[in-house]
Amino acid sequence: MKNLLLPFFLFLFFYTQSQDYYIHAGLLFDSKKGKMYENMTIIIFDDKIKKIKKGFINPDNSNDKIIDLKNSTVLPGFIDLHVHIESEYNPEKYLNQFTAEESDIAFGSLKFAKRTLMAGFTTVRDLGGTGVNISLRDAINRGEVIGPRIYTAGKGIGTTGGHADPTNGWKKSLRGDPGPLDGVINGVDDARKAVRQRYKDGADVIKITATGGVMSIAKNGQNPQFTLEEIQAICETANDYGMIVAAHAHGDEGIQRAIKAGVLTIEHATLMSNKSMQLMKEYGTYYVPTITAGKEVANKAKIPGYYDELVVPKALAIGPQIQKTFTLAYREGVSIAFGSDAGVFPHGNNAKEFIYMYEAGMTIIECLQSATLVNAKILGVENKLGQISEGYIADIIATPKNPLKDIYTLENITFVMKEGVIYKD
Ligand SMILES: [Zn+2]
Repeated sequence: MKNLLLPFFLFLFFYTQSQDYYIHAGLLFDSKKGKMYENMTIIIFDDKIKKIKKGFINPDNSNDKIIDLKNSTVLPGFIDLHVHIESEYNPEKYLNQFTAEESDIAFGSLKFAKRTLMAGFTTVRDLGGTGVNISLRDAINRGEVIGPRIYTAGKGIGTTGGHADPTNGWKKSLRGDPGPLDGVINGVDDARKAVRQRYKDGADVIKITATGGVMSIAKNGQNPQFTLEEIQAICETANDYGMIVAAHAHGDEGIQRAIKAGVLTIEHATLMSNKSMQLMKEYGTYYVPTITAGKEVANKAKIPGYYDELVVPKALAIGPQIQKTFTLAYREGVSIAFGSDAGVFPHGNNAKEFIYMYEAGMTIIECLQSATLVNAKILGVENKLGQISEGYIADIIATPKNPLKDIYTLENITFVMKEGVIYKD
């Protein structure tokens, strides 16, 4: 009898404890329809959106709780497809590779994760770090640490001397010859092995550096660094393991190889030609602009000593170009996703990307859809994230003003709920 009573009382305890949240939303953004609705009630049970009703509905049950957002705009939690959640650039970052323990990186990343969530970004795709990002994702999923839901690439993949070679700029005796384990490949066999290694390590997505980049200690910021065959081998293998591929690329040749090889997203795409834009449309490739990072590196490159002397000319040449490229790609009808490259600039400022996209010609509704509907689709979670719809996961945020009238309000997120749990109110 005793054995039967305990489950019964436990059931009774949880049954009476369980409550619905009734969110009274003054304005509610419907990302799917691209419309703003007035005076709505969103009913949350557990981690899901149970019902959406017109008007301000009060609960029958006294256990249920009203969340008054009558003077706010309520939106689906934002998704940033390009962050580096483990770190934030500062002039000591290069030296930190030799001095910081993994545990130091891990503890440091906690504040970045928290800041990101509090800024209304309930989901991020992390495009490369040391591998601590995988443990951080798991700790957040277990509820031990506060942060956004993370889809991570673990450590990015490059080629010898390329943008993701972790030993760039080191003296010869320290450099060694890093291989697929460390994310450095040469040839199709290495390419496959590097993807399988990431699968084994627990990565969710694959990131490659198809061209040179700004922040690496290397001369060229735009040359192609993979062969077409290498990228094809990466995409095919990633596909076998159900992982999507993101390619960092600034130069046009590298962009075109990545598109043709089958990557799903091109990151930065700074110098892409009209031909590349047409190819992206043809192949169904998405463009992840990261305008914020471009502006940041262009500004910081003017501070003497802030970046390595090899980085400065690349930052000055590539940084200011991204927003111009965005305007052209938008006009051409390229599919545009939302990604900021937070970590190159301070985490938590991700919403600046909205402002720069808007400045570059995108409508505010499309800006909001890119960070919700479009990004959820890219991650393959369009049936549970990116919308405030019945049955969806309760990732809900709010801001005091109507972003369709004042886009800057997106930098001021005053309410954050992730999976039905309130983190900011
Ligand atoms: Zn990046």
